[in-house]
Amino acid sequence: MNSTTENLFKSLTSKIELGGSWRPKNCISRHKVAIIIPFRDREDHLNVLLSLLHNMLPRQLLDYRIYVVEQIGNDTFNKAQLMNAGFLEASKQNDFHCYIFHDVDLLPEDDRNLYTCSNQPKHLSVAIDEMKYKLAYKELVGGVLNIRKEHFLAVNGYSNLYWGWGAEDDDMAYRILFAGLRITRPPYRIARYKMIKHIKRKPADFNTRTKLLYSGLKRFQKDGLNSINCTIVNITSSQYYTKILVDVSKDMMT
Ligand code: UDP
Ligand code: MN
Repeated sequence: MNSTTENLFKSLTSKIELGGSWRPKNCISRHKVAIIIPFRDREDHLNVLLSLLHNMLPRQLLDYRIYVVEQIGNDTFNKAQLMNAGFLEASKQNDFHCYIFHDVDLLPEDDRNLYTCSNQPKHLSVAIDEMKYKLAYKELVGGVLNIRKEHFLAVNGYSNLYWGWGAEDDDMAYRILFAGLRITRPPYRIARYKMIKHIKRKPADFNTRTKLLYSGLKRFQKDGLNSINCTIVNITSSQYYTKILVDVSKDMMT
């Protein structure tokens, strides 16, 4: 760790266990929560987010562990496969009640945005500075999504077929609604985030992703957690997170 990074973690008031977990010592949290961060090549963002979460979540008396799921190689990013792989591996380690899928560049601004489990899927990144603190559209579940284990299983996780930027989150929104679940949100004034500035990913071809999205509901039972075919390269415990290194499956094409 370089000195700038060290400084970030100096402000931590709680002792974080190796692998990036914490739980309250004087009470038992109602839920166990896994935070899943899809990741590649954004070390600076990661350190800022980790220091922030490890400050905020103990204040919420949450029993949690942070997983960083990293795609190896230079092929097009497949965020959804990383999130599915993160879910599957984390669920082998512990019986988490819910999962929070968290972009690495979104920094929560308010401690009252609770990361505990919710009865219905809960979209936490409602108001982002970059979006003038407005929700872009009502089916949005990208950014930070909190979903119970049984609901994630019921929708068969994310589709594995979206490569590059775009639409894997909308596909998830359709899965959620189709399963008869609701997308809930905390109030705007609380669910606020800052987005760390970064270069935009190259969007996937518009026609390909639109076609996928419109045929998504026909496929969801066969395309997701039950069809993922990636390779877990290794799992390591760092000081502030558990890293899952993944070789995503290239044959997951349409
Ligand atoms: N991501 C990453 N490395 C990449 C591309 C994406 O770590 O090269 C992860 C990271 O968690 C990021 C998320 O995928 O926050 C969404 O990608 P990005 O921020 O590029 O898209 P945006 O939603 O901001 O348009
Ligand atoms: Mn981003």
